[in-house]
Amino acid sequence: MSFLPVGRFAPSPTGPLHRGSLFIAVASYLDARARGGRWLLRIEDLDTQRCRPHYQDLILQTLQRYALNWDGEVWRQSARREVYAEFLQRLHLHPGLYACRCSRLHLRGQERYPGTCRHRGLDGAEHALRVYVDARRIDFDDRLCGAQSDQPATQCGDFVVWRRDQNASYQLAVVVDDACSGVNSVVRGADLLDNTARQIYLQQMLALATPEYAHLPLLCDAQGRKLSKQNHAPAVSLEDPVSELAAILTRLGHPVAPSLCRQGCGAMLAAAAADWDVRRIPPTTGPAT
Ligand code: GLU
Repeated sequence: MSFLPVGRFAPSPTGPLHRGSLFIAVASYLDARARGGRWLLRIEDLDTQRCRPHYQDLILQTLQRYALNWDGEVWRQSARREVYAEFLQRLHLHPGLYACRCSRLHLRGQERYPGTCRHRGLDGAEHALRVYVDARRIDFDDRLCGAQSDQPATQCGDFVVWRRDQNASYQLAVVVDDACSGVNSVVRGADLLDNTARQIYLQQMLALATPEYAHLPLLCDAQGRKLSKQNHAPAVSLEDPVSELAAILTRLGHPVAPSLCRQGCGAMLAAAAADWDVRRIPPTTGPAT
């Protein structure tokens, strides 16, 4: 049976979509649709300090304006704490968890968690929980970045799966949600590449399937800085989606003819999907325009 991808776009509603995030949405959409697959939308709104409901509405509106139509209901991480807690219990049994009271300040400058709280026997109800990490290597073949081999024990050490505010960490929530929603093909930005070994480690601990991965080059501004909310990348246009989408498709190595642009975003996406090959995305980052 041929592989039917289930892809997803998983924005955090901490700001409007900028060209860098729309670039990822378009690539993951095309990569799933071109192979007859499904494309899901998941709102990663666990960071209650930074996420805002109106950004969530704006993200949905923007995707619709660009004819990026998702399948099924929108998944919202803020509604899934109970599910994460169930998977956390499984990690308790294997490979085990321990409470950690180390502050960010205490750990500043350390790439790898030194295991300070490993043997302190703290109470988990008030602290973050870390998962024990063994010495295994995680090997995977990224569809764009090629063969990867990481060892979480040396890369980051025991990592947080449950936060001090008593909800799942990004790593646990992503792994649980990808598995529960049947995602088998992840297309996302290269800034997340070094999280992948940790996520595969959790998949192995929880006996969950590992999706295929493709990490996309990040778009940069004219100064060579990654387009990001932190760098105040402007929101994509809701007035002129056709020009914005044409620029993104060109940057993805799949330009569409001007005659198609007159037919709107849906026709442009369909044309790009008909011709899609993820390996045609140019690897270099560069000014987005
Ligand atoms: N929520 C993450 C972000 O906005 C994406 C997470 C993922 O794709 O795994 O960067």
